[in-house]
Amino acid sequence: MTDQPDDPIDRLLAGFERFRDRYFKVEPQVYEQLATGQAPKVAVVACCDSRVDPAIVTDCAPGELFTIRNVANLVPPCEPEGTYHGTSAAIEFAVRCLEVEHLVVLGHAQCGGIKALVDGGVDGEFIDHWVELARPALMRVPPDLSPDERLRACEQAAVEVSLQNLLTFPWIRERVADGRLQLHGWYFDLAAGELKRLAKLTQDEDDEDKG
Ligand SMILES: [Zn+2]
Repeated sequence: MTDQPDDPIDRLLAGFERFRDRYFKVEPQVYEQLATGQAPKVAVVACCDSRVDPAIVTDCAPGELFTIRNVANLVPPCEPEGTYHGTSAAIEFAVRCLEVEHLVVLGHAQCGGIKALVDGGVDGEFIDHWVELARPALMRVPPDLSPDERLRACEQAAVEVSLQNLLTFPWIRERVADGRLQLHGWYFDLAAGELKRLAKLTQDEDDEDKG
């Protein structure tokens, strides 16, 4: 275990050996059952950032968490116009096919995607257009904040914007209204090592328990 290879790809392959030892030798029942199908109760929309892997951060076992990742953990509004919607397709699969009971939008501190929006863009073909989804969040951020505070405020407001966008999907709105689905907005402060629960949308309440 202590002799980690230096090569990053060799590290992954060594990691796979440890994973295989654990789940196919020590706990084979886990994958014996999962081989017949998945039934996660929770789906999460998280950022691609290598520091915020939701299954690692929440210490989940295989099969527990349906994970959707994109730049800045954004949810687009429902736009069934026939272009390629990877995030919406994954959300649809989680909600309509797997019938998850909870959908979490997991924002995080020091998000490069949100920073690109706040700083006015990066030199690229796709990122700027994608992070425009969070423009309504940036509009809500008070202008008199320091650059760091501005970024944090925008990261958290973007989670709220994604929750609102989730409600533009009729089959999500319907499931929240009849209690089959709950929506959660979380924020992982990776510098402080804290998880902040920003908002929860359920059948009965539309509460925002900040703190
Ligand atoms: Zn990010």
